[in-house]
Amino acid sequence: MDIAKVVLKRGRERSVEHRHPWIFSGAVARTEGSPAVGGTVEVCTDAGRALGFGSWSPASQICVRMLSFDAARAPDEAFIGERIASSLARRAEGGRAALSEANRGVRLVHGESDGLPGLVVDAYDGWCVTQFASAGAERWRQTTVAALMAAGAKGVFDRSDVDVRKREGLPMEGTVGLLAGVEPPELIEIHEGAIRYLVDVRNGHKTGFYLDQREARARVAALAEGRETLNCFSYTGGFGLACAAGGARSVENLDLSRPALDLAARNFDLLRAGGAGAGCAVAFTCADVFRQLRLYRDQGRKFGLIVLDPPKFAETKGQLMRAARGYKDINLLGMKLLRPGGILATFSCSGAMGSDFFETVCREAACDARRDFQIVGRTHQASDHPVSIAFPEGAYLKGLILRAVD
Ligand code: SAH
Repeated sequence: MDIAKVVLKRGRERSVEHRHPWIFSGAVARTEGSPAVGGTVEVCTDAGRALGFGSWSPASQICVRMLSFDAARAPDEAFIGERIASSLARRAEGGRAALSEANRGVRLVHGESDGLPGLVVDAYDGWCVTQFASAGAERWRQTTVAALMAAGAKGVFDRSDVDVRKREGLPMEGTVGLLAGVEPPELIEIHEGAIRYLVDVRNGHKTGFYLDQREARARVAALAEGRETLNCFSYTGGFGLACAAGGARSVENLDLSRPALDLAARNFDLLRAGGAGAGCAVAFTCADVFRQLRLYRDQGRKFGLIVLDPPKFAETKGQLMRAARGYKDINLLGMKLLRPGGILATFSCSGAMGSDFFETVCREAACDARRDFQIVGRTHQASDHPVSIAFPEGAYLKGLILRAVD
């Protein structure tokens, strides 16, 4: 079968030559043949030079996502299977395959940076949870599921209920459910060091858990000893559990979501049952962080450690300035609530906000708080969420760990 062609406008081949995976519709001069939605297209320069192959996504501004920069081999099922297998092999630890390791929570496939645009696969204790977020990823769904089962998945559960599918013109119905293998239990237990987390893959955020903060949780926990901790945007307890295990004097988990806090409470029970965090007083507060921080400011409350891990405030560059005001607001409030020597662990998962800009926002907040801070550390998404050097957009999560020096 003839593969359809996407011909770029003159001079618009540069980013593809730099192995960037996205081609925007404005860069395309014309298509030849009739490319299918999600189907493979050959990408050529205006002069007819072949640059590689990508997936066609006509409804999206990103109309092609490159799969291969090798013009000699058109991607087929075997190609996709190999990409998945090598992605999994990179997550093997000490020779142990990621899927056969009991209670491991790990991102197995991280989209563009693993050469599989639009595809996310997380594994929890051997169950895979998928997100097919682009037309190309959707096109290879069966191949993906088969490859994961062949690699030893207990089951594959889909959580493609992500808004980006709308921009790709993909249906939102039937995006949650079992695709193959055995139904996962209501809650899956994963281990992160000494900590056990229960993960709800059906109703939880994203695929159920924030695996991307694994390394940051360990960094913060190492600073938690003896501190009264306020864990803002706690979700199911993530940073709070790590801090309790790290010897925090107390942990207050603050979130708007009651189900998230209920699961957090069960996770703290598990922690204590395992013999950790025994001396730590734990509280769960269902409230809006913006309001609660103001309340604590007015009450003159102080904390030794504050974690700010909010949801994405900016979806796009256009929302950046509004998002910056939100980040500045919570950081300013958090900084004011710290005891002398207190630690602020503050994060942004907005891909549209670069780490330099995030640091500028925090600097301005510190200035307005009239306090001095040292940067104790900078954190990034965990290493199973890799960033391809050709695709800086893949670096979405950044964090600053600051110490109040006054
Ligand atoms: N720190 C967590 C992940 C946080 S996700 C971990 O490591 O697992 C962001 C959380 O913020 C979600 O649980 C969401 O319910 C909560 N949230 C969003 N807006 C909020 C607000 N205004 N006030 C309180 N919680 C909020």
